[in-house]
Amino acid sequence: MRILGIETSCDDTGIAIFDEKNGLITNQLNSQSQLNIKYGGIIPELAARKHLNNIIPLIRLALYDINNEISTISAIAYTAGPGLIGSLLVGATIGSSLAYSWNIPVIPINHMEAHLLTFMMKKFFNSIEFPFIGLLVSGKHTQIINAISMTNYKIIGTSMDDAAGEALDKTALLLGINPPGGAQLSKLAEKSTNTKFVFPRPMIHHPNLNFSFSGLKTHAKKIIQNNKLNSKIKSDIARSFEDAIIDVLVFKCKKALIQTGYKRLVIAGGVSSNLKLRRELKKMLKTCDLHGKLYYADPKFCTDNGAMISYLGFLKFKKGIFTSPKIQVNSTWSISKSHIIE
Ligand code: ATP
Ligand code: FE
Repeated sequence: MRILGIETSCDDTGIAIFDEKNGLITNQLNSQSQLNIKYGGIIPELAARKHLNNIIPLIRLALYDINNEISTISAIAYTAGPGLIGSLLVGATIGSSLAYSWNIPVIPINHMEAHLLTFMMKKFFNSIEFPFIGLLVSGKHTQIINAISMTNYKIIGTSMDDAAGEALDKTALLLGINPPGGAQLSKLAEKSTNTKFVFPRPMIHHPNLNFSFSGLKTHAKKIIQNNKLNSKIKSDIARSFEDAIIDVLVFKCKKALIQTGYKRLVIAGGVSSNLKLRRELKKMLKTCDLHGKLYYADPKFCTDNGAMISYLGFLKFKKGIFTSPKIQVNSTWSISKSHIIE
């Protein structure tokens, strides 16, 4: 049994095939980051058009990797939301049309659920270790999830404004780094040997598990305006900024684990590839007597990719969750309703 996965939620076109016996057998990706640099960000209309150009050649490459044995594909999983509506429609339309002509079902996938469960892909999919606390830290989301089962996710914390990745990208841009700048800002931070710039830890003492990161970016802007930027100052700002974000994320995760009594913490989304975040979370799990374990995906599967869609499609297909070909998208589809697309 094989599942073809299609990811087109934002600006990356991802096509992958997940095989029951051999796991991930092909993973094709086309990123539009160069285009985004040219225009200073993602232009939804252009992103959708790029998907249109890229999707068929990438599907052809993926099929080539299985010797064009189309009959071995059991279903097509496509990202149905959340994301940019034009981009989502490209994947949903192509996915459903192919499924119709190949006479196989489709599996509309929630992009955030796919991010969240990618960590299990390397273990070869047999045991789903629910329940756990999930920290979704991506370009547009910062959420703490009480993951009870594959059809039951409760959002117990969320950002009131910017997502962590968004705040990192905006501050990186102020430091002259092209978007998405999170990874490069982190590299810059590694060069710093001090924490001389003081950043607040927003909402850390609030009783709930919510976040607010937009003030940090404004704080960074002020520091940048008041200092003559050289490479040392830049790396010091990057470090203090990154530390502030990480401190808040670690603190709220600890709180969520204590509140639920869970021992498993899963981090997912682009920011989860941040090495310092991983280190600090591991330290927290050790020092707090929680005896918990941290789970995460290979960095190349933390940002958007088709592999995570084909993998979640595979998990759902095994559970009998699929439908006849249908173009269904929801640009604001919440993970808390991932079992039904409206
Ligand atoms: P969403 O999944 O919420 O719709 P998205 O798909 O755009 O948003 P992802 O692709 O999961 O987001 O993640 C992209 C984000 O991850 C960017 O903000 C990027 O800067 C950030 N990022 C990637 N690598 C790192 C890193 N090593 N450290 C910090 N941030 C990182
Ligand atoms: Fe994403």
